Amino acid sequence: MQVWTIANQKGGVGKTTTTLALGYWLARQGAQVLQIDLDPHASLSRAHGVPAEPAPQGTLELFADPPQPLAALARPTALAGLALVPAQSALATLERRSATQPGLGRALSQALARDAGRWDYVLLDCAPTLGLLMVNALAAADRLIVPTQTEPLALHGLDGMLRTAQMIERSRGSALPTFVLPTLHDRRTRVAQESLAAMRGRPGAKVWDAEIPIDTRLRDAQSFLDLEARFGRGLRAYGDALDWLLDSAPVQEQVA
Ligand code: ADP
Ligand code: MG
Repeated sequence: MQVWTIANQKGGVGKTTTTLALGYWLARQGAQVLQIDLDPHASLSRAHGVPAEPAPQGTLELFADPPQPLAALARPTALAGLALVPAQSALATLERRSATQPGLGRALSQALARDAGRWDYVLLDCAPTLGLLMVNALAAADRLIVPTQTEPLALHGLDGMLRTAQMIERSRGSALPTFVLPTLHDRRTRVAQESLAAMRGRPGAKVWDAEIPIDTRLRDAQSFLDLEARFGRGLRAYGDALDWLLDSAPVQEQVA
């Protein structure tokens, strides 16, 4: 089982789209995939058609005392081989509880260690907030994937994320291999080209040597069914990004 955390301390850079698209391609290749929505805004859950009201059973229950098992919270999606643990807006209240429940920073790692064996890949979709949920996702990660829009402000988000990753590496005492995916790239603009060049010069992470282009078919994709119907160069580029991620897997972390 491999845990891939998709995070960036900036919003709107394509984290949820990346989670959806990588899950799509992994499942299409025959892998058993679990996506966990760690964002109180629950965009990933909406994309899978899970309504906000009534609040579903989901991520919050992983932090309950005692926590519910993953298998009880994972639900099938429209795509065979892909399961989802949906988010609730009440996840936003977890931060307050972390002061009184000290062990909460490892709750997700423990839940995954207990019963994630049935999945080949677990994809964690994060909110941009650096808080308890992101700390949990980074503590549990085998690798960190940082979607980064090719525009100047997004580079700050990337730098913040790389600093946070270093902090997590020190606290957990093991490396956190980090992979940057340039996203929402508009190759016609000079700022996009300059941002891309700056991104490729960043130390501390592997940066994909291609880009996810802006693709209106991807923007309009509201659900998995739509995603398949709107198959285009954006989703295809994610297939190439997945090939790169799988090729850069150290031997010991590849699925048998
Ligand atoms: P985040 O999760 O980082 O906030 P999202 O994945 O929700 O970002 O993407 C932000 C917005 O941009 C969404 O409306 C999404 O549909 C759109 N989007 C993401 N990637 C692309 C792309 N490659 N081309 C066009 N629109 C995209
Ligand atoms: Mg998102």
